[in-house]
Amino acid sequence: MASKTFYVTTAIDYTNSLPHIGHSYQKVLADVLKRWHQSLGYDSLYLTGTDEHGLKIQRSAQAANKEPQDFVDDLAKGFENNWKKLNLDFDIFLRTTSEQHKKVVNEFTKKIRKDIYKGTYEGLYCVGCETFYTEKDLTNGKICPIHKREAELLKEESYFFRLSKYQDRLLQLYKDNPEFISPENRREEIINRVKEGLKDLSVSRASVGWGIPFPLDETHVTYVWFEALQCYISGLGWPGAQFKKFWPADVQLLGKDNAWFHTVIWPAMLFAAGIRPAKKIFIHGFLTIDGQKISKSLGNTIEPRVFVEKYGADAVRYALLREINPREDGDFSEKIMVERLNSDLADNLGNLLSRGLTLIEKFSGGVVPKGKIDASLKKEFEKVLKETGKHVGQIEVHHALEKIFSFIALCNKYVNDSKPWELAKTKDARLNDVLYNIAECLRVISALTWPFIPESAEKIARQLGLWVVPKLENIKYGQTRAER
Ligand code: ZN
Repeated sequence: MASKTFYVTTAIDYTNSLPHIGHSYQKVLADVLKRWHQSLGYDSLYLTGTDEHGLKIQRSAQAANKEPQDFVDDLAKGFENNWKKLNLDFDIFLRTTSEQHKKVVNEFTKKIRKDIYKGTYEGLYCVGCETFYTEKDLTNGKICPIHKREAELLKEESYFFRLSKYQDRLLQLYKDNPEFISPENRREEIINRVKEGLKDLSVSRASVGWGIPFPLDETHVTYVWFEALQCYISGLGWPGAQFKKFWPADVQLLGKDNAWFHTVIWPAMLFAAGIRPAKKIFIHGFLTIDGQKISKSLGNTIEPRVFVEKYGADAVRYALLREINPREDGDFSEKIMVERLNSDLADNLGNLLSRGLTLIEKFSGGVVPKGKIDASLKKEFEKVLKETGKHVGQIEVHHALEKIFSFIALCNKYVNDSKPWELAKTKDARLNDVLYNIAECLRVISALTWPFIPESAEKIARQLGLWVVPKLENIKYGQTRAER
């Protein structure tokens, strides 16, 4: 039997400034999906990276008095460093200035040349978005809704991708695969826009220097979006063995500003090349900090590592995952994070661990005694495992954490109610049962929490004397072997 695989990707970030907490949510979410599937025995792969070409980066590099390559090298390092601090276990960090990516863009563009032709483009272009807009997409027909600046009128010779040709096939894709555009609340708007008709897409520019020379005409530069979208297969070394093994991606996570490119343009490009699109494109909302938009002018573009250095990676991961509903816009604040850290991570989880270990130490010399499995805890665990799995599958990780942390609260209640300190006083034989179940609860909790807060989960496992965090694959309540 072929091994089960799981491939998750995030958007690759634009390297014109360092990442902030708004970039982090999607990356942490992808990490949870990867770790969860890995723990279930899937051969799992996680791609993230940086999008390093285009006019905006060229201008930012100029403003910083740097060569574009030096400019993006520094920023790419900054991104990677932040993601490592957050304990993101990505396998591929794809940079669009890498030779591997350029090679794939070259081959891919040549492969779909039948769908590319030369024409003239005239349109309103937002430098911030690196994209042409139609008037109706712009506020008052002029202003970019994301960047709040006026789009520029640009006219140039350009190569075009026959996007219009794929309208019916895209609509069929959405119909046959209702989960392709997820969540459901994002679907209808996109489908309606596709139904209105698709225009061919300009994929090269004659006027910009910083980019990949257009493979069909090197006097042009490849349109930045057109090549950046190919990162998800260039990272796999398309069309090689890793691509064959992991593509189509199981989930591609994107912010809502990227929805059109990933649910319309990207699958059409893949159709042109005879490649199946991803199984699911999941679009999450935007993040605010303290109720405010994240922007340089507001001074709240704090690098995630700053929070990690102050509170630890798990505190940041937990607050993002627990507070935000991936289906909607969400808010993050240092205050909320500290509250979650104190109440959930310290009072609930930390308390169970320290009490549990102290009790086992005090009443059983630090070894887990033989004891009877508590049937109701076993049943609760089985329920929570099933429900959590369902929530993770549906990318409702906030609900998954709710379930896990109610189970932790239940374990704390079990300790309170069974009063092992009193059982010890009266030399009650049930003491060993209680100690055994406390150890067992901690063991299954380390497995359940690992995809979300790996540092804490690993600490629990270590303190229980386990070599590694137990896998969710085949986990059962009552597998702790008593030592005496
Ligand atoms: Zn814009």
